[in-house]
Amino acid sequence: MRLTGSIHLIGGGVWGGLGLSPGPDCNVYLVECGDGSAVMIDTGSGLPGSVDAIAGHVEEAGFRPEDIRAILLTHMHGDHAGGALRFAEMTGAEVHASELTARVLATGDEETSSVALARTAGVFPSDFKLLPVAGMNSIAEGDRLEFGDASFDVYETPGHCAGHLSFLLSASGRRDMIAGDVVFWRGRVLMQATPDCDPAALAASLAKLAGLGQVDGLFSGHGAFVLSGANRHLDEAASHARQLRIPPGV
Ligand SMILES: [Zn+2]
Repeated sequence: MRLTGSIHLIGGGVWGGLGLSPGPDCNVYLVECGDGSAVMIDTGSGLPGSVDAIAGHVEEAGFRPEDIRAILLTHMHGDHAGGALRFAEMTGAEVHASELTARVLATGDEETSSVALARTAGVFPSDFKLLPVAGMNSIAEGDRLEFGDASFDVYETPGHCAGHLSFLLSASGRRDMIAGDVVFWRGRVLMQATPDCDPAALAASLAKLAGLGQVDGLFSGHGAFVLSGANRHLDEAASHARQLRIPPGV
C-alpha cells in the first residue's frame, strides 16, 4: 500500500496493524530509493505466514526481493526484528541496527530482547524463536545512510526499549520520521513492564524528535501513520514529557 511518493506499507499484523500480514507483526515499511532499489524498515515477526504476506506486498509495490538493498531495524523486539534472518536470506541485503540490537540478534538473546517475557505474556506463540542474525552492521546517532535518492539520518531514541533507533528519511522532497515504537499518532507512547523500558530516557528521546525542525510524516511501528503535519504529534508527546508526565499510551 503506497503511503507517500517513496514509502509503502508492506506489513502489519495483529498488534495494532492494518491486517496486511497475519502474525504479531509491527508495521513494516518499504522505501523506494529512486534507482530501482528499496530499503525495508523492520521485518515483522518472521512467522511463515507473515513472511509470505510481506514478500507478496514487496512484489505488489513493484520490487523483487533482490531489489531490497538494505534492511534497517528500529529495535530488537520480536515483532520488529523476528523476521530479520528470513528477509536477510531472501534479499541478500545487509541488516543495519544499533550496536545493542546487533549484539542481541547475533546470538538470538531472548532475555535482553524481552522475547522470553513477551512469549510468556502471550504476545508470541509458544514456539516463537528469535532467530540469530550474523554479520549485522552497527549504526549510531549522527550516521547518515544514503541509498539512491533516499537518505536516513539515524537518531538514538531509547525509552520504549534500550538500543532503539529512529530514522529521519529525506526523499521525494519530504522529511518523514520513521519512529519505531518510541512515539505514535497524537503523541501516544508504548511503555511496557520490561526491564529496559525507561521513562526518563523516553522523555529525552521525545524532546530530541520534537526538536528536529519541520517533519512531514510520522510512520510508527504500530497503528495509524501521519502523512503531513507530524510536528504537531511529536510536540504533543514532548509537551507531556517536559512536565515530567508519561504521555498517554496507545
Ligand atoms: Zn517494541
